[in-house]
Amino acid sequence: MSPRPDIRLRLHQAVERRTQDGLRRRLRPLDALPAGMRRADGRVLVDFASSDYLGLSSHPALAETLARAARVEGTGSGAAHLVSGHRRAHAALEEALADWTGRERALVFSAGVTANLGVLQALLTSGQPGAGRGTLCLQDRLNHASLIDGALLAGAELRRYPHGDAGAAGRLLLAAPDVPALIATDGVFSMDGDVAPLPALAELARQHRALLYVDDAHGLGVLGSEGRGCVDAAGLGADDVPLLMGTFGKALGCAGAFVAGDGALVEGIVQFARTFVYTTAMPAALAATVSEAVRRVRADEDGLRARLHRHITRFRTGASERGLPLMPSSSAIQPVLLGDVARTLAVAAELERAGYLVGAIRPPTVPRHQARLRITLSAAHHDDHLDGLLDALASALARHPVL
Ligand SMILES: *Cc1c(COP(=O)(O)O)cnc(C)c1O
Repeated sequence: MSPRPDIRLRLHQAVERRTQDGLRRRLRPLDALPAGMRRADGRVLVDFASSDYLGLSSHPALAETLARAARVEGTGSGAAHLVSGHRRAHAALEEALADWTGRERALVFSAGVTANLGVLQALLTSGQPGAGRGTLCLQDRLNHASLIDGALLAGAELRRYPHGDAGAAGRLLLAAPDVPALIATDGVFSMDGDVAPLPALAELARQHRALLYVDDAHGLGVLGSEGRGCVDAAGLGADDVPLLMGTFGKALGCAGAFVAGDGALVEGIVQFARTFVYTTAMPAALAATVSEAVRRVRADEDGLRARLHRHITRFRTGASERGLPLMPSSSAIQPVLLGDVARTLAVAAELERAGYLVGAIRPPTVPRHQARLRITLSAAHHDDHLDGLLDALASALARHPVL
């Protein structure tokens, strides 16, 4: 008998390989400073790496709402929603979300990742884990990991079509006319910033009787009227995209997620999404805070959305004036594609020395040879932050030429 391979050793070897390839990720504690600034290793940095697009995560009024609600509701909800954890604050938030997104019913999850895992598992299996064989799940190749993982968890027939290629999705549907089918896509793609071809996908779904599910983590609060997201911005509604998912951790500045759709779909998710059924409900104080964030995002009395869009325009104009490579994105996500991992890390380190924190995104988060700086813009930034970043970026790129 050969000796049993050791899990610990195998894991260690995988970490070593990753380190040698320059792909090791490191956890680093940062301090949050007012107005979305950070401090790392004693240095004050402008944060161009977060998804806090409207700067709400450090808004004093929301922090006050959370503190006040916590004094009434306590810290934890103590149980799952279907046990005793579902409070009036959760129900009120779900009503606010349904109203905002123009759908019959919304359901709150504790995180976007678990929302996608649970919703896909429920839709693709109607309840039994791993029972998705014979159900087709079409996904954009660049979808968020949690969508891919949801289909894998369900054991569904996962087919990934080339990025943004609704035609390819259509051919996959044509080839399998007699099986139930779900099309799942990011709305705004998290590493590229571009938007899915939603009208074409909605038309396909209608034609082929498939269900369309859009994860709008990065569009909600940023795009569309009252910040309703990319579906609204594309001129589509609940008839076109029956199931919409959004998160609270990005433009809403909090944490958690929701899915919204017609009553029957959402009831199916309540019954069968195991990441909903078996998890502790998010703190009610947080639900109350998210409700206030939704109210603020919709009304946008501070003009944060317009400010963010001015920043997007200023950044893109400034980048093209300086001859910087940009990707075709009109969202708050403005990646600079460099390709090479070492160069990406070197440029990011130099930006940090200049006082700017940007994401250095490497495989496997993005495809091989597509390492990039992921620059995210926020209403919390000022014009001189943007101009300073652009100047620092231009000089860092010049100092680290393509070899
Ligand atoms: C961030 C993100 C998620 C995960 O949401 P969390 O609430 O952070 O777990 C899901 N989908 C997309 C597209 C995301 O960008």
